[in-house]
Amino acid sequence: MLSDFLALFFPRFCAACEGALAKGEKVICLQCDYKMAKAGGLTDNNNFVAKKFFGRVHLQYAWAYYLFNKRGRIQRLVHRMKYDQMPEIGEFVGHKLGAALLRQGLQHEFDVVIPIPLHKSKLKKRGYNQSEYFGSGISKALEVPLDAGAVVRTVNTASQTKKSRLARWKNVDSIFDVKDMAHVRDKHILLVDDVITTGSTIEACALSLQHAGAASVSVAAMAAAK
Ligand SMILES: [Zn+2]
Repeated sequence: MLSDFLALFFPRFCAACEGALAKGEKVICLQCDYKMAKAGGLTDNNNFVAKKFFGRVHLQYAWAYYLFNKRGRIQRLVHRMKYDQMPEIGEFVGHKLGAALLRQGLQHEFDVVIPIPLHKSKLKKRGYNQSEYFGSGISKALEVPLDAGAVVRTVNTASQTKKSRLARWKNVDSIFDVKDMAHVRDKHILLVDDVITTGSTIEACALSLQHAGAASVSVAAMAAAK
C-alpha cells in the first residue's frame, strides 16, 4: 500500500543504477538485482556476518542480504534509502530477505521483528527510520509482527566515528533502553538494521534485549561490510 502510494510520486527509475524500470520491475531493476553482490550464508551459522559477533554477543542467526562496499550500486542504494526520502527501498529489500528466509522454513522461528531505533532528533530530521521499513518488509514476508516501539535510543551517537573501537563500544553499551519488557521477555527477536560494519550498534542493542529477558536474538541487515 505504502509503496504503491509512493510510486505515484517517484519517477520509475532503478534506485541502484538510475536506469528506467521496465514494466513489472519495482524499485530495483532486474539486472541490478541479479548483479549486486549478495552476502549469502543464509544456511551457514558461521557466515561472515555471524562471525563479527563471535565472542561479543550470542546471536541465534545473523544475516545480511547484500555485501556492502563503499563504492557502487549497493552504497548508492543505501544512501538513497537514508537520505533521499526513499525508505521504500528498505521495505523492498526486507521483503526479498524475508522471502528467502521463508524458503528456508524459518517462518515460525521468530516472535517479533524489532528495528534498531534512531534517536528521536535524527528521526525528526529524517522523517522516517529506514530500518523500520526494512523490518516491515521482513515482517510482512514472514508474517511476524513488527514492533518499532519496544526499544528506544536514548543517546544520539552521530559523532562516534573518530573514537576508538573500545571507546565506541562503551559509548553504545548504554544507548538503548527497552521500553516494553513484556514485548521482549522470552521472545526470539529478529533485530534488523540497515548496514552492519563493525557491528557495535547491533551488539549493544542485542545485549540490551538480552538483559531485558529476551530468550534469543537474531540479526538481519540490508547489507553488511566484510
Ligand atoms: Zn538498476
